[in-house]
Amino acid sequence: MYRIGQGTDFHQLAEGKELWLGGVKIPHTKGAVAHSDGDVLLHALCDALLGALGLGDIGKHFPDTDIRFKGIDSKVLLQRTYSKIREKGYWLINADCTLLLQAPKIAPHVEAMQQAMSRILNVSREDISIKATTTEQLSFIGREEGVVATAIVLLQKF
Ligand code: MG
Repeated sequence: MYRIGQGTDFHQLAEGKELWLGGVKIPHTKGAVAHSDGDVLLHALCDALLGALGLGDIGKHFPDTDIRFKGIDSKVLLQRTYSKIREKGYWLINADCTLLLQAPKIAPHVEAMQQAMSRILNVSREDISIKATTTEQLSFIGREEGVVATAIVLLQKF
């Protein structure tokens, strides 16, 4: 039995905030404005995992009005999300993710992100694909006002 899921997330960027992407802190002048650490990539991935089993979205499971989730490490959110998937008897086969942002360059950090994410999801690094694109200076992404991530996952029940 296979199930597919997709997720999308947006965060605003602001000066002086930390930039966390794919479970890794990226050196940059701007970071996400968020209730948690604002890791847009892990949030999109959580939504894809939940979506695959029709379990709603990350906001339903970890509401940003809940003080317990203030400043939370999104790796913990991914861990807890994946536990819900495992409880239903499903495993991740692979994930394919895309980051949309103007800066900084993501390529030097992809391996560390794959490592962080694959460790939580119990798959090998090659099973987590992370791609990045700019928007050629177009829109809020091009003006470096925000960052977007999308993720697609395939789950299998054994
Ligand atoms: Mg988010």
